[in-house]
Order: sequence, then C-alpha cells, then structure tokens
Amino acid sequence: MKEINNIKPLIAIIGRPNVGKSTLFNAILGKNASIIDDMPGVTRDLHYEDMVYADKPFTLIDTGGFHIDEEGDLITQGIRKQIEEILSSVDGVILLADGKEGMHPSDDEIYRLIRKSGIRHWIAVTKIDGDDKEIFASEFYALGVDEIFSVSGTTAYGVYDFLDALTADFWTQKEIAANLPEPEDEIKIAVIGKPNVGKSTLVNKMIGSDRMLVSSIPGTTMDPIDSIFHYKEKKFRVIDTAGIRRKRGIDSVMENAAVVRAFRSIDRSDIVIYMMDASDPATEQDLRLIGLAHEKNKGVILVMNKWDSIEKNSKTFDEMVKELRYRIKFAPYAPVVSISALEGQRIDRLLDLVLKINDNYYKLVEKNDLDEWFIDSLRQNTPPQTSKHKPIRFKSAVMVQVAPPTIIIKTSHPREIHFSYQRYLMNRFYERFDYEGVPVKVIYKRG
Ligand code: GDP
Ligand code: GDP
Repeated sequence: MKEINNIKPLIAIIGRPNVGKSTLFNAILGKNASIIDDMPGVTRDLHYEDMVYADKPFTLIDTGGFHIDEEGDLITQGIRKQIEEILSSVDGVILLADGKEGMHPSDDEIYRLIRKSGIRHWIAVTKIDGDDKEIFASEFYALGVDEIFSVSGTTAYGVYDFLDALTADFWTQKEIAANLPEPEDEIKIAVIGKPNVGKSTLVNKMIGSDRMLVSSIPGTTMDPIDSIFHYKEKKFRVIDTAGIRRKRGIDSVMENAAVVRAFRSIDRSDIVIYMMDASDPATEQDLRLIGLAHEKNKGVILVMNKWDSIEKNSKTFDEMVKELRYRIKFAPYAPVVSISALEGQRIDRLLDLVLKINDNYYKLVEKNDLDEWFIDSLRQNTPPQTSKHKPIRFKSAVMVQVAPPTIIIKTSHPREIHFSYQRYLMNRFYERFDYEGVPVKVIYKRG
C-alpha cells in the first residue's frame, strides 16, 4: 500500500515569508528534477511545476508567503485558515524553515497545524550552506519530529537526499501504467472563479433540479466531495463541490490558499467552467486561473454570470465577448456564455456546451485533413527565418493523441518558431476544425 494514494501527488512548500521557499523550489527545478512540460507560462506568478524525479511524477507548488505580521510572533486567525485550506487541498506538504535565523515560534505553530491535519509532511531547514552549518538545523528537532532535512537552495546542498526521501513513497511511472484505473464514462467538470461570482448557486442549480439525479461520492484525496448528476443521459462529476460550498468569508480577493484549491480542482477535471461576474469580468486574478486551465490543457468555457443584474442592450453580449477575447488572447477557443445562475437562465445551453467540448476533447482529425491545414497555412504565410537567417523547414504535422488533442510538428528548428507564427498556425487550425472549448496542444520536434 502506498501511503500517498494519488498517483501524481500535489506537494506544497509552505513556511514563513523569506525563509527561502522560492529559492529551494528553483533549486529542485533546476538541478534535480526534469520538467515535463515547458509550455510558455501564462501564470508565471504562480509557482508550480509538474516534475519527474527518479521516474516518479509529482507536482510541486510554492504557496508563496503568508504575510505574517513581522511584529507579532504568532499567526493570525486568517493565516491559520489559509494554512488549513492548503493542508486540505494537497497530498503532502513541505514545511520549510530558515536555518540561518533559527527556529521561530510560528514554525512550531504551523507544524502543529500540520500534525493535526494528519497530512503527509516533511520538515526541511534551508540556508544550510555547508557542512559546518548542519548544527543549525538540529535545533529544529525541538519540534518533536523524527527527521529534519538540511538543505540549501543557494548551493543545492542536500537537495538530492531530500528528494529521495520526499519521493520514496510516490508511484513510479511503471507502477502507474500497471495500475491505471479503467477510464470512467463521465465528464469531470470543475467550477472555478473568484469568491461570490455565483459558483455554489450554479452548482446547486445543476445538481438540484429534478431531472438530475444527485449523489455525493467521497473523493480519493482528503476531504473533497464530488457531486454527480446526469444530463442528457451523460454522467457529470462536479469536482470538489464541498470546497465550493465551504464559505471563506467575504473577501473578494482570492487568497493563495484558494488558488491552491482551485489548482487541485482544475488538475482533476477535464473541463473547466470558469465563472465571472458580468459586471467585473476578466480581472488579473481571472486571467491567472484561466491561464492555469489553459496550461493544463483543460477544456474551458467562460461564463458571464449574473446576466440578470447588469444593464444591457442588444450589443452588450458581443461587446463583452470582444473585450474578453482581447484580454484572454491565449484562449481563443474558449466559448463565452452569459447566464443567470440565480434565475436558472441558459444553464441548459451551458451543459450542452460541456457535452460538445467533451466530444471535441476526444476528437481526432483525419491525417489528410490535417495535412491540408498544414500545407495551406505554410503556403499562405511563409514562416519567418531563424535569428541566423536560415530558412525554417517544416516536415510534418501529426495528431498523436486525444484528450487533450496533441499535434506533433516536425521542423528543422523546433526552438526557433516565432511565437506569433505558432499563434497564426493555431488560429488557422481553429478556423478550419471545430475544436470549440479545447486547447489543442502542439509540440515542435526536430525532424
Ligand atoms: P521565500 O519568500 O520563502 O520564497 O524566500 P526566498 O526564496 O525569496 O529567499 C529569501 C531570501 O533568502 C533571499 O534573499 C534569498 O537569497 C535568501 N536565501 C534563500 N535560500 C537561501 C539559501 O539556501 N542560503 C542562503 N544563504 N540564502 C538563501
Ligand atoms: P460563490 O462564492 O462563487 O460560490 O458565489 P455564490 O453562489 O455564493 O453567490 C454569491 C452571491 O451572488 C449570492 O448572494 C448569490 O445569490 C448571488 N448570485 C449568484 N448568482 C447570481 C445571478 O445569476 N444573478 C444575481 N443577481 N445574483 C447571483
């Protein structure tokens, strides 16, 4: 039995600000684990990475600092809530402490919260820049833990040993392949958005109406509860409904902890219903979360909720779509739908879109049709030369898999295809084939 049953565990680094979290995160990335996917990031301020170490995949997320009041030693109620939120959203947590500064009262407090949650954890002390400093790490045994890992983000000291211990229990890719569950015939949706945009109102409408059968099934991780309903004979699973219903106060700014929870829900889903308040669409926070769904190659629907409450005329919807397209350039495929969750307006239309996107997610383009798109696009707009003025030659484009649909393009200079040319090819692709709602993934390879 694996202690961690998620096949690709989500591991968070937590700790006080400035203890060295992001430095350690980068050290782990740079030296020791290979990054699986290096798509251009839209969410650069959210530090997470899917990695493989010793053939074991996992996701590492740097939760950022908690802004503990520099004056006060102890953590506030608000921070405590955030920490608890993170602990209930991940599979394991690394508590990082500062070995230069020594033990801080709040390290102890955070550690007690971790213990209480029962979550798998590792305690690491960083800024141990050389063997003679090991002694500074030992004072942390006062926390009452069995093992303290001494590391340095700056010199990468101790990072290999730490990663060995961290991943000891994780599944190898071989084990994962051998134990993969049968694909279930259900559509996994995540309802994501800032607080108060109407997520729980929508979820209640979707699972509450009498044409739909309701049941709640405990998730595989800590406490998330999914909800199941049926629509047009298809089974839908709403990921982590419990998290949506749990109210976290009236803050309109999303705390870091809520982002970690959203991260988990997006990761577990196939299709993201991204909700915004029609009176305040596409804020920075929205872009960050939509970007996350895009980077993770999930189907995306942009929902403008509270349509009942805004002033509008016959042009309002089109203008708003234009504005969204302008702001969310990286997701031109995402359909926009305006609804009123409160009044139940156009919820069927939304669910019909989910069905369509799900079909698109599994759709394969015939080789001949793909060739036509590829050849026509290249002919109509010649690719720019490399920085050394060499022509870039393209060999082939093949759709190698679905869910998400993935195209491999073979070319003489895979790393030199200009971003705007990549976007041009994809725009042509979406014009030609109906992949509404689906971020088709393109990988450029030498050949
Ligand atoms: P975070 O807020 O926890 O993400 O902390 P940072 O990673 O941004 O680091 C805070 C400060 O500590 C920066 O000035 C880093 O240069 C320094 N620092 C981080 N890791 C180490 C380390 O391993 N050794 C030393 N000597 N300094 C470090
Ligand atoms: P959540 O935090 O995203 O789950 O948002 P809630 O579902 O709790 O909704 C926040 C508030 O917005 C509540 O007072 C809802 O009644 C209200 N609300 C939700 N959907 C709509 C809508 O379509 N129209 C209007 N006018 N209000 C809505």
